[in-house]
Amino acid sequence: MNAKITKDRRKETGWVKGTVGKYDECTFEAKVYSLGSSYGISDSVVSKLTITPGPKATLANCIFNHDRGLDIYECPMAVVDAVLALFPTPVCPDCGSVFITERSEIDGGGWVCDECQGTFDKPEQATKTIGFHADGSYADDAAEAQRQERMAYSEQA
Ligand SMILES: [Zn+2]
Repeated sequence: MNAKITKDRRKETGWVKGTVGKYDECTFEAKVYSLGSSYGISDSVVSKLTITPGPKATLANCIFNHDRGLDIYECPMAVVDAVLALFPTPVCPDCGSVFITERSEIDGGGWVCDECQGTFDKPEQATKTIGFHADGSYADDAAEAQRQERMAYSEQA
């Protein structure tokens, strides 16, 4: 599966348009930030993403919509992952966390990791994947077991 960017306004507004599929079957619109966050898909830099069959990305007939949280997911994982692969997310080179902060010159420059407190000159660029199936369950077995445990616990409470 390949995806490509057709209009990039990341510097001005954060919005990017593009196509997905061998024959550009789908269109996407994404809001992309310079750093990952918990609002992003799998903590990536992509916090909003709409994928629609055909030449125009609209909410009305989309097959995927994530707006700081998952709304619609009716396409193969590979379609979403092809878009995510266009937008690498800066991560801590030591622990892989996306929760990193650039330090000012006064503080010594470079970056600090909010998770492991490590400091480094430059973040690594990681390709994030959607990490969960269309029914909302995680693709990762360990993560899915944890989610089911949490759900069972909250049903008891
Ligand atoms: Zn770290």
